Amino acid sequence: MRLIELSKRQQQIVDIVKENGPITGEQIAEKLSLTRATLRPDLAILSMAGYLDAKPRVGYYYTGKKDSQLLSEKVKNVAVHHYQSRPVVVEQSSSVYEAICTMFLEDCGTLFVVDDEATLAGVVSRKDLLRASLGGQSLEAVPVSVIMTRMPNITVCKRGDSIIEVAQKLIQRQIDGLPIVREVESGSGLEVVGRVTKTNITSLLVDLASDDTVD
Ligand code: ADP
Repeated sequence: MRLIELSKRQQQIVDIVKENGPITGEQIAEKLSLTRATLRPDLAILSMAGYLDAKPRVGYYYTGKKDSQLLSEKVKNVAVHHYQSRPVVVEQSSSVYEAICTMFLEDCGTLFVVDDEATLAGVVSRKDLLRASLGGQSLEAVPVSVIMTRMPNITVCKRGDSIIEVAQKLIQRQIDGLPIVREVESGSGLEVVGRVTKTNITSLLVDLASDDTVD
């Protein structure tokens, strides 16, 4: 898999640097019978994409990294907040019926449950609601707090976490999404500031395929 499709000239530059590096931009230009200014955009692209590195007063050298290494470095550096969704929350006193309505109206698969201080108390998934519906109780009478997975057993992440760490947590815990949280300033508890799900991770995959990820 190629990270970026190199132009003929960019490939020539990579080959020159591989063979002769460290080498200055001026010397590369000479070898290609071009001006330094003409090469500037290509050198910038190759440096940004990680093929080449430049040291001041030394010149360009080949990083020796394979496309797969460059790709994995790139993915590891993507913070989760670039791919987050809006969190959908319900209060812990809400009924199972209300939670089902919210899930349909908001078109999401995971609800975060908050307590009176608006801090994270639990998570309710589609299957939690289905299970509760099988019991034969009145769905209006059962509060979500009875059926939710509750703190401290909630897997969470922070805005700056790497999206790949999040993906690993989703797989390890066999869950569909995580709340993105921050610690509340006064007292204890976690405030829910976002949501990241398998859908967000699929968007990352699509962006990677079109080489459109944030740097
Ligand atoms: P579903 O059960 O609808 O397939 P999940 O796989 O996300 O959805 O949920 C599986 C179980 O894990 C549910 O009981 C749910 O309450 C719980 N759960 C979901 N997300 C989390 C999370 N971030 N932390 C802890 N438990 C979770």
